[in-house]
Amino acid sequence: MNISELNTISKSAASWTAEQILLWAARRFAPKAVLTCSFGGGGIVLAHMLSRLQCRVPVLFLDTGYHFEETLRFKEEFARRFGLQVITQQPALTVREQDEQYGPRLFERDPDLCCHMRKVEPMAAALRFLDATCWIAALRRDQSPTRRGVDVIEHHQMADGRTVVKVHPLAHWTREDVQRYIHRHRLPRHPLSDRGYTSIGCWPCTSPALSADERSGRWPGTGKAECGLHTFTTKTPSPDRPATDAAPNGR
Ligand code: SF4
Repeated sequence: MNISELNTISKSAASWTAEQILLWAARRFAPKAVLTCSFGGGGIVLAHMLSRLQCRVPVLFLDTGYHFEETLRFKEEFARRFGLQVITQQPALTVREQDEQYGPRLFERDPDLCCHMRKVEPMAAALRFLDATCWIAALRRDQSPTRRGVDVIEHHQMADGRTVVKVHPLAHWTREDVQRYIHRHRLPRHPLSDRGYTSIGCWPCTSPALSADERSGRWPGTGKAECGLHTFTTKTPSPDRPATDAAPNGR
């Protein structure tokens, strides 16, 4: 998809519903579209929409080796119930191998390196082996200051020269919109969400929310806000928006 086509669509998509955006992405990029999902709030909304709209888009789950047991069980149950095609992608090193090579508890000493090896590299590898040209994710502008610049449709470049169109059908949704959708469709919820966890990642780096900020329980007390998953690609500035305004979005 060239930039000019993307900009035209992007303007129209600003008034589309999340379902319309998802359908467009599934049809436009099939079979090279993929949804990343860690089975938290927004991810299950999009996974459920894929199922409801009968879109044959695989769900990519990055299994860092540090997920809560609750997450792994919930993923299995949710995927079975809604007939999702889940692709599980693992890092090159097991947790034990990483401990042997880098020392134990790398997540405490160098969380950026840990995230890079356990999330970013596996994601880049998955995009390559799936030959994906479209990456759908549940980023929302209201999630954190690092995500305020998220657009519904974005063109991104990767370090190896490949490009990918990132699609964020929930960019304009609020946390309340997500909760409303889950309630309306009677979706099961991640078991930890009833215990104060408003954003759920790896167990060593996730606590219940510390404030109204949805992501305040991620890497608490470290100043780290993003794992790098949504910042390792470079967003192509829109001609309508100066490069300085095209803030990196993140996860
Ligand atoms: Fe490692 Fe923590 Fe990043 Fe998970 S969130 S990959 S445990 S640093």
